[in-house]
Amino acid sequence: MNHFTYKNKELYCESVSVSKISDKVGTPFYLYSTATLSHHFRVFDTSFADIPHLTCFAVKSCSNLSVLRLFSSLGGGADIVSGGELYRAIKAGIDPKRIIYSGVGKTKEEMINGLQTGILMFNIESEQELDRLQEVAAEMGVNAPVSFRVNPDVDPKTHAYISTGLAENKFGIPIKEAGKTYMRAKGMPNINILGVSCHIGSQLTQVSPFVESLQKVKRFIKALADHEINISYLDLGGGVGIKYRDEEPPHPEEYAREIIEEMKGFDCTLILEPGRVIAGNAGILVSKVLYTKRNEAKNFIIVDAAMNDLARPSLYDAFHDIFPVHVKNENIHDESLEKADVVGPICETGDFLAKDRLLPALSSGELVAVMSSGAYGFTMSSNYNSRPRAAEVLVHEDKFYVIRERETYDSLIKGESIPPFLDK
Ligand SMILES: *Cc1c(COP(=O)(O)O)cnc(C)c1O
Repeated sequence: MNHFTYKNKELYCESVSVSKISDKVGTPFYLYSTATLSHHFRVFDTSFADIPHLTCFAVKSCSNLSVLRLFSSLGGGADIVSGGELYRAIKAGIDPKRIIYSGVGKTKEEMINGLQTGILMFNIESEQELDRLQEVAAEMGVNAPVSFRVNPDVDPKTHAYISTGLAENKFGIPIKEAGKTYMRAKGMPNINILGVSCHIGSQLTQVSPFVESLQKVKRFIKALADHEINISYLDLGGGVGIKYRDEEPPHPEEYAREIIEEMKGFDCTLILEPGRVIAGNAGILVSKVLYTKRNEAKNFIIVDAAMNDLARPSLYDAFHDIFPVHVKNENIHDESLEKADVVGPICETGDFLAKDRLLPALSSGELVAVMSSGAYGFTMSSNYNSRPRAAEVLVHEDKFYVIRERETYDSLIKGESIPPFLDK
């Protein structure tokens, strides 16, 4: 469910007209609905109400301070993957005791930051990383709370670039070898073992791979108990998919039902790290048509948003629905359609938002909404082709707020300098 709907042949976000926002803010811009974000968070979180759990929003999916503040106000924690995300999470007011630090390449400085902040735990992904954390914690004279990310070798049945839990992926420690790592960690003076974690991939549309990994992790936790290693947290990661096109992902309640069933009688707090399922359909990217053109092979709609704004189509061949902000008929499905590629101004053939898409005839100046762009949209954007990054706007009921200003040309060259030998 989301709060992007047509009223009087015009797209609205909650009670605000999308074109009104465009008049004030310009294009392109990301637009998020507070009602949708909160609804998705609440539905997900309350689905697990029957068992001890902690919902840590995956910051990398949508990391604006206001979005994080919203989840913090709803009792959410954060799953972070860098020192920058830790900085954001704390600035947004997220309780450090609800922060999980994931990622394969934490630096010493990032470890120091995490320890100083007093986060709930680090998800460690290799022996060398464990050694580094022991060293850092010893220098600081503190104990580091850890969980190890195990790789359960389960096929998530999703896009290869977003599969993380297969033996061939770089993530985690193979579950077969992880016992040794836990035994080593147990003997380390500054390491405090708290949990076991896994995250097998993103945009999963079936519950069974989650259940399969959960079963493997449970078996592993039982084996650890035989060696007097007691685990208090079981982190199942994120990865629940959403509907972009014709996928049929599980409803969070269905996902929760099966996971809760598996967790029965298992004395661990469950940690969840959802990103896409919360933010994906809570945001859109609004862009303006610049030109249309036609060659022998195709129609092209050239818009002012590009692969630097939304990388997913170029990167993963991802499908995003594209709707006109103004429609000619009450029912959008009554529009007469024409096949076209929707492309951006960037000098790359890979710069497209949609290929061979049936769309109503669009002309210069019209606005389009690229749907399902709330997750891995703005956060993956770049300045390629020296394009200032888009503004981010949050709607709450009948008001909208610019929660990140559009970048300026000055922000593009911030930090750059010309050395004296060239300064003539
Ligand atoms: C990316 C990521 C997530 C979030 O994944 P979604 O598919 O957006 O739910 C959770 N945990 C870890 C460790 C991740 O890397």
